Formats: sequence, structure tokens, C-alpha cells
Amino acid sequence: MKEENCLIYEDSVQTTLYPPKPVIMKQEDTKERFNIKETCNIVKKFFNIKRRSEEDFRILIAELNNVLNKDIKLKSVDATESDMFIPRTNTIILGFKTIEEKKKGSLITFLHEYQHALGGNEWTAVAWSLTIFKDVYPRSFAKLVAKDHCLKIVV
Ligand SMILES: [Zn+2]
Repeated sequence: MKEENCLIYEDSVQTTLYPPKPVIMKQEDTKERFNIKETCNIVKKFFNIKRRSEEDFRILIAELNNVLNKDIKLKSVDATESDMFIPRTNTIILGFKTIEEKKKGSLITFLHEYQHALGGNEWTAVAWSLTIFKDVYPRSFAKLVAKDHCLKIVV
């Protein structure tokens, strides 16, 4: 994934619509307000990208909630159900797919929904999740391919 294929995040974009392409934040936009640095550090320290089990996401959300002083909950579902954030119950619904006989979730999707839980719109959720993923896993990021606002692994 080349950076030129991504849009640059504009903080002024006030929309509930998805951006037409993947969005990343400029270095100067990754200030404290978005907690990018803290989140990257937590992902680096506590998340196991190879395993991506429900337990890994439970550890990650507990650490994020602790540092950001939130009480966001996680409910795991089958991947056939939609990933979403439900404000009424302050809960992220995350789908787990069976890959090589293990249930795995998507870190980018989790971060996207976590940003919604922090109050971000679709542009912010896309930009926040991709900026963090790119920072922590630059080599994996480079292998992703853009499809609409998402980045996908090509098999
Ligand atoms: Zn969203």
C-alpha cells in the first residue's frame, strides 16, 4: 500500500459518510488529542498480531480503557454479523473468523470501532485505525490493498 493511494485526513471533514479511499493522518495531526502515540505503544506492548484471539482483544481494550479513562465493552460475535459500536451499551461488537482452526479478529476493525466509541465520525475512525496500524506494523501495512475506504490483505 503506497501512501499516495491514501487520502490525507482533514480534521474539518464533518461527515457520517465513509471516505472514498483509505485515509491516514499527517504527522502533525497525530497530536495528543487523538492519542495516537499512546495507542501505538499499547498495541505494541500488549497485542499479539499473529494470534488476534478474543483474549488478545480483551487485554487490548482493558489497557486502552485504562490509559484513556474509558469503560468501553467488547462483545465477540461470529464474523457473519456486522462489526459496530453500540452507544447505548457502550459496546464494540467485533466479528471473529475461523482461520486455520483459530478464531481471529481484525485489529484495524477493532481500532475503527474503538474510535467511534471515542466519538469519532467515519473519516476519523478510518484515519485513526489505519494511522495506528501503519505506525505499528509498517511492513504489513505496505502489503495491504485499497478497496473503497478499507485496506485488505490480498491472498
Ligand atoms: Zn465506522
